[in-house]
Amino acid sequence: MKVWSLQCAQGHAFEGWFADEQAYQAQQAGGLLTCPMCGDAGITRLPSAPRLNLGGGRSDESPSRPRPGSLEEGVQALWEQAVEHVLAHTEDVGAAFPDEARRIHRGEAPKRAIRGQASADEVRALREDDIEVVPLPQSLPKRSLQ
Ligand SMILES: [Zn+2]
Repeated sequence: MKVWSLQCAQGHAFEGWFADEQAYQAQQAGGLLTCPMCGDAGITRLPSAPRLNLGGGRSDESPSRPRPGSLEEGVQALWEQAVEHVLAHTEDVGAAFPDEARRIHRGEAPKRAIRGQASADEVRALREDDIEVVPLPQSLPKRSLQ
């Protein structure tokens, strides 16, 4: 089973599940592939690079580097910039993240953006308390600090 990010000519992005490459080609050639939002049949496949970094550190899925100059590389670069922006504008509180997020939410700690570690259960509990939590990739691009 393959999952691809697809986009229609109107710019709606959605996911398509296919048994294999041939199934995707056959559906598209037969006009069976349409946008769930507007019914447009002009469907194109998007690079799925950003999703590959969100898998929770499964090492058997190490993505190969995209071809230089490709659209995929552009998307990857934007994603890495976004991650770096988050790292530059948040305070690392490590394993204390769930407690600190609650203290900020209750006004017991200075209001600021923080990052750190939390289990899936802790993230769910925070969201139930209306605390905004955004997952970051487990493995960050290695960069020199110079
Ligand atoms: Zn559409």
